[in-house]
Amino acid sequence: MSPKDGVRTAPPIASRVSRVVVVGAGFAGLEVARELGRAGLPVVLIDRQNHHLFQPLLYQVATAALSATDIAEPIRKILRRYDSVQVLLGEVTETDTDNQTITLADGSSFGYDYLVLAPGASHSYFGHSEWSERAPGLKSLTDARFIRARALLAFERAERTIDPAEQSRLMTIVIVGGGPTGVELAGSLAELSRYTLARDFRSARPEAARIVLIEAGPRILSGFSEEISDYAHRRLEKLGVEISTSKPVEDIGEGTISFGGSIMPVGLVLWAAGVAASPLGSKLGAPLDKAGRVLVDETMRPKGSTNVFVLGDAALFTGKDGQPLPGLAQVAKQQGRHLGRALVRHMKEGTALPPFEYRSRGNTAIVGRHAAVFERGRFKLKGWLAWAAWAIIHVYLLVGFQNRMLVSLQWFWRYITFERGARVMYDDTFDIRQARTPAAGQPASKVEE
Ligand SMILES: Cc1cc2nc3c(=O)[nH]c(=O)nc-3n(C[C@H](O)[C@H](O)[C@H](O)COP(=O)(O)OP(=O)(O)OC[C@H]3O[C@@H](n4cnc5c(N)ncnc54)[C@H](O)[C@@H]3O)c2cc1C
Repeated sequence: MSPKDGVRTAPPIASRVSRVVVVGAGFAGLEVARELGRAGLPVVLIDRQNHHLFQPLLYQVATAALSATDIAEPIRKILRRYDSVQVLLGEVTETDTDNQTITLADGSSFGYDYLVLAPGASHSYFGHSEWSERAPGLKSLTDARFIRARALLAFERAERTIDPAEQSRLMTIVIVGGGPTGVELAGSLAELSRYTLARDFRSARPEAARIVLIEAGPRILSGFSEEISDYAHRRLEKLGVEISTSKPVEDIGEGTISFGGSIMPVGLVLWAAGVAASPLGSKLGAPLDKAGRVLVDETMRPKGSTNVFVLGDAALFTGKDGQPLPGLAQVAKQQGRHLGRALVRHMKEGTALPPFEYRSRGNTAIVGRHAAVFERGRFKLKGWLAWAAWAIIHVYLLVGFQNRMLVSLQWFWRYITFERGARVMYDDTFDIRQARTPAAGQPASKVEE
């Protein structure tokens, strides 16, 4: 569509002032909109979802510890108090930097004076897109609900099966990728099967479920020190998680996974291994890295750009030490806040945009019931204290008082009872027929009807 005849300007907010269009209401985009909103400057914030999602707790939704709504908040509600911020639901598909427009999936276009792209990232299957069907990844609420339903259904099917080998296959869950998400999923699934489900089944024995964590590199949590990585390894093994390192996945079939030259029958494979930046960044025509991230300078602009910014997981920002910043919520949040404030001063006073500098608040990951790891420079914390710090930080960072209260209460309840409140399957992610369907390669007679 030609920008001349297709451009539909957003409803007038303050048409004489420069307009900022922000794409993505994740950690980065939301902060930009907030800062501009606080200053009363006009912003259009576009997201394909109507909610902001707290991704660090997604694994708890996937493992039935929290409900989807506990970790999400409507974007409109978060930004309600800022009159100059307009929230639009829509998927941005094109950017045209020459004509300063963006286009949505429905064909409508919007002009901008400043464009902030913060569309995040999704999964990368390292050139094996066919694996995505067999090994779901965890990025959205839909993913989390799907994984939860698949995991719970695996146990339901095991309960109906009379063949011990098939029962064991169904209760083998493999997680690919030993980073924080893989470690958290493995620990939480082990607890779910050993402590919560164990009491509820009669034929299947969920406590005997095999939870296997596969890491292609030499150790899990490779972004942490060896000491922390060793601790996490031992803690997971204590929970009964089997860990395989230095063996990359070779293939993922229907009900099987191949790695290290052997084939393992599995009930469920989960993908926590690779990340690819949103394809939206590539529309700018700027240089990208291998993961599709847009290379940006210290003001978060791609080379040669004056009014386009790329933030968060979609950007490759090189820190002062020459290392790229990691794909973390705290990086995205700090970048968003920095750019928002810088744009306010720039638009109001004409000041130049200052360079961004990241201040790490430390890395953390949970490795099971009251055990976590935290590392900031040489400072290391592990075990119960790290777990308490992790819990406080995550509750504090959740958006919305209601979510904070609900999550705190549920964690407290779970801590004392081992119970998981979010085990009810009721929606499109659950299909009762799957509980009856014989597993691939198994005769129907193996499943009790
Ligand atoms: C399972 C999991 C666990 C994690 N755990 C941690 C952790 O413990 N600590 C930590 O610091 N980080 C963690 N992270 C990483 C952290 O969540 C990301 O680094 C952070 O969300 C990046 O923020 P962002 O704003 O760049 O993108 P996101 O938060 O992903 O937001 C992107 C937004 O853009 C929207 N969007 C995407 N494409 C379009 C489009 N074309 N049009 C319109 N809207 C679009 C999306 O709907 C989304 O709302 C975790 C991530 C995952 C997936």
